[in-house]
Amino acid sequence: MATKNDVLKFIDQNDVKFIRLQFSDIFGRMKNIAINSQLLEKALDEGVIFDASAIAGFSEVESSDMLLFPDLNTFSVIPWRPQHGKVARFICDIKNYDGSQFMGDPRYVLKRSAEKAKKQGYTFNIGPECEFFLFHIDAEGMPTTKTHDSAGYFDMAPTDLGENCRREICMVLEDMGFETEASHHENAAGQHEVDFRYSDVMTAADRIMTFRTVVKIVAQRNGLHATFMPKPIFNDYGSGMHINMSLFKDGKNLFNAGENSRDISDTAKMFAAGVLEHIKGLTAVANPLVNSYKRFVPGFEAPIHIAWSHMNRSPLLRVPAPKGEATRIELRSPDPSCNPYLTLALILEAGLDGLQKKMEIPEPVEINTYNLTPEQEEELNIQRLPSNLYLALEEMKKDTYIREVLGEHIYSKYISAKELEWTKYNSTVHPWEIDNYLTAY
Ligand code: ADP
Ligand code: MG
Ligand code: MG
Ligand code: MG
Ligand code: MG
Repeated sequence: MATKNDVLKFIDQNDVKFIRLQFSDIFGRMKNIAINSQLLEKALDEGVIFDASAIAGFSEVESSDMLLFPDLNTFSVIPWRPQHGKVARFICDIKNYDGSQFMGDPRYVLKRSAEKAKKQGYTFNIGPECEFFLFHIDAEGMPTTKTHDSAGYFDMAPTDLGENCRREICMVLEDMGFETEASHHENAAGQHEVDFRYSDVMTAADRIMTFRTVVKIVAQRNGLHATFMPKPIFNDYGSGMHINMSLFKDGKNLFNAGENSRDISDTAKMFAAGVLEHIKGLTAVANPLVNSYKRFVPGFEAPIHIAWSHMNRSPLLRVPAPKGEATRIELRSPDPSCNPYLTLALILEAGLDGLQKKMEIPEPVEINTYNLTPEQEEELNIQRLPSNLYLALEEMKKDTYIREVLGEHIYSKYISAKELEWTKYNSTVHPWEIDNYLTAY
């Protein structure tokens, strides 16, 4: 952990001229302001004032002055900015002007949940798999939905045109202290995945935020547009953000059932049961856009049913073959447009609820759930994820733990903004309707 003096010394000795103070709005979009590095010491002690009234979900104009406090753990030089007169960044915590905690800061929501876990001795470890698309930019410099290549899963150059971009992304991430594990072309044309090594939940959420910025910047530098929109192309694979997770205590993976076991531990099962129990309620956060629900269709490796399995890749929750410290469960519904702080807080607390109530996990479903008939669904008692944002918001309101985890401020601002988003979408006349109705009626 860096100290204030370490950081001040570093910026002094390494020609760091500007400091970006970054934070997330309630929808997980990174915002920032730059200050001169001379002002950093004061910023660390007293915070930096900013007008929060224009930030989505933050505050009303009457109480708009807030303070950003740089988190020393998130310090890094921004590798893509000039190296003479460097720029560094911090991710910040947000306080009200009177010094009290600002309840609209999504990072605080996750901090609170991670601390709750810590009090019980747990470290929640997260390895996200972030997928994204690379699209061409048109002559006016506007993004298109024309994919940058026509390669598929694990394809190689010369069909895979993304290799330089992915390589550059990994290099930038490593410069910023990430350990990248793997990167490859994904199923859809122009679709890619970069995986970084798992870490504690707070670090993972900060890294997802940073990752999304890095991918967009590197794409732009390569004349491309990167998007984390979950389903940019109809009838092709969408982008997910699988969440691999495990709970550690005293440096040991509690999901590991022992060296020779081919199963996960009872702790893992109770935790997973909690996640399954609350999944409907948390879906409006893990899958926040109208477009998120267009990914939940059969045939493209995205889940539709609330079920778990050991190996097959259609269910919501998968248990990869247990391997010692890498024993984990993988939640496959979240997508990369979500707010990682809120999503991971909800997943963690769903799991903790499972542990506390010793929830029992249902039987695994080892068949391809895409082929289930409604009769089989009924017979096997398998429910579906909410199939659109409206239904997801209704589920969110029914599950009372969501409000507790998010806190009143974020809960109510989130729901009202998302309801408005749904209403706007639902009252818009879409091209599909014109195609299907204009001449037929
Ligand atoms: P998939 O087989 O689903 O494509 P990947 O190999 O792409 O999975 O990604 C696996 C992710 O799981 C990586 O980010 C890795 O760091 C992470 N992971 C490995 N072990 C653990 C663990 N014990 N807890 C949480 N995440 C883990
Ligand atoms: Mg993967
Ligand atoms: Mg893999
Ligand atoms: Mg993938
Ligand atoms: Mg996966």
